[in-house]
Amino acid sequence: MTISTHSWQQTFVTACLLLTLASCSSVPTNPPQAVAHKAKNVILLIGDGMGPQQIGLLLSYSRQAPHGVLTTHRTAFDRMMNEGRLGLSMTHPDAALVVDSAASATQIATGKMAGSEMIGVDKDGNRQATLIDKAKRLGKATGLVSDTRITHATPAAFAAHQTHRSLETNIAEDLLSTDADVMLSGGLSYFLPEATKDDKTPIHQQIKAQVGAGFTVSSARKDDKNLLTTASQQGYQLVFNKSQLQQATGKTLGLFADSLMADGITENKHRDEVNRTQPTLKEMTEQALTILSKRPEGFFLMVEGGQIDMAAHRNDTGLLLHEMLKFNDTLNAVLDWANSHPDTLIVVTADHETGGFGFSYSAYNTPKPRHLAGNAFGDKAMFKPDFNFGNPEVLDKLYTQQLSYEAIFKHFDALPVAEQTPEKLLELVNRYTEFKITKTQAENILATENNPFYQPEHKTLEQKQVPKMPVNSAFFPYQKDNRQNLLAQAVAMQQQVVWATGTHTSTPVLVFSHGKESVLVPFTKLLHHSELGLLLGEAF
Ligand code: MG
Ligand code: ZN
Repeated sequence: MTISTHSWQQTFVTACLLLTLASCSSVPTNPPQAVAHKAKNVILLIGDGMGPQQIGLLLSYSRQAPHGVLTTHRTAFDRMMNEGRLGLSMTHPDAALVVDSAASATQIATGKMAGSEMIGVDKDGNRQATLIDKAKRLGKATGLVSDTRITHATPAAFAAHQTHRSLETNIAEDLLSTDADVMLSGGLSYFLPEATKDDKTPIHQQIKAQVGAGFTVSSARKDDKNLLTTASQQGYQLVFNKSQLQQATGKTLGLFADSLMADGITENKHRDEVNRTQPTLKEMTEQALTILSKRPEGFFLMVEGGQIDMAAHRNDTGLLLHEMLKFNDTLNAVLDWANSHPDTLIVVTADHETGGFGFSYSAYNTPKPRHLAGNAFGDKAMFKPDFNFGNPEVLDKLYTQQLSYEAIFKHFDALPVAEQTPEKLLELVNRYTEFKITKTQAENILATENNPFYQPEHKTLEQKQVPKMPVNSAFFPYQKDNRQNLLAQAVAMQQQVVWATGTHTSTPVLVFSHGKESVLVPFTKLLHHSELGLLLGEAF
């Protein structure tokens, strides 16, 4: 795809189109700006893996769950739709059909087509300026918030430039070089020197004392760099828990977990605890807004609901619902804030859809005939649909799930090997979820086969024996997690849910925009994410 107009990275070209040819003989120092179409503040929310289907789960829950927790039956997406505009965006990277989070976020951040799994560079591998660079040039404050880790692909693409998303230790250094004013997420281990791994070293003891109880302290680095020291020298206030965060006022680096932050079920379970130390995605976002909005020039903030994707990769529908509720809470808080800050553009989108998810009708448990009073039925005719179109009570049962599938298998794997039996798995699944499995199903979930895609040096395909996937196993390449996908398949009929894949799909994603009408117009069409990036760059 080639985009030659409306490019903030091609200001000169645009200026030449607007001016006469003669006046384009030298680079204009002050190219004309469409002032009416600018916002002071831009808040971009990315639901990772949040395709139309994932939003659909939240909407079904809000409208149809018999005992839903959203008592108004309306979501933050209703507010976005009622007050804002909607567009649709293709997400594909350069020369491929399906995108990953790194390339997708890079395309939004830079306005350029990107290559798979690359961070902040174009399709040819050249470093590109990002929306954060643009905001900084304008004197605006900048921020990144994610419930994964700050070095993970989505936040990284806005402030780092690396040839692969897995280079997270380099990404941590890039993030500090870019010097965004507020960075809040997990990922502490990428900032700590290798010696931190050993709990007897002074550095381990020092960090342990600094971050407080309940925090795993380790290192993901292979060098002796202490990036917390670097950050302090750059003027960052370092915060590691909720109360420190809520007192933060200036430039802030908040690292609230060794790696990933809490998943949606865990966050929800502990949300009302007085002693909770880890902030929620909503709390991080609110504090980021408090800090960034002090800048008279305005700000750019990216907020990621990053674990929607993780739930969807594992086909864990109950967890997915909780992740969507977490995102909904966060977006509601952003909209509340924007009520008193009208000169703000809010854009909500996804980097891609994950899982090919949907409720689906089936041949299982087809409905019994029943009388309907309607006059079209007459005296004897019975209402009997041919198929099971799904009972909305499923939505309440999904909400009641008490542990993620990942956590259930963590419990299982922590058992002595002799106790890792189908009976034990059945017991765990049936204790923590509403959708019960049988012993045969538990046996199938634990069955293994020779890895049909074995590659000894590969990051996820390196095991010789892997869970036995009955169909389409190529589309479940995170093989260590595949017992979770098999569990999802075992309860699919009861959940009324289908999942097509353990990876991403090419489904176009929605682009919700909210703000002054003149700013929204460009977003209300069929876009590609590189074009969305260009439009965002022009909006402030
Ligand atoms: Mg992400
Ligand atoms: Zn993903």
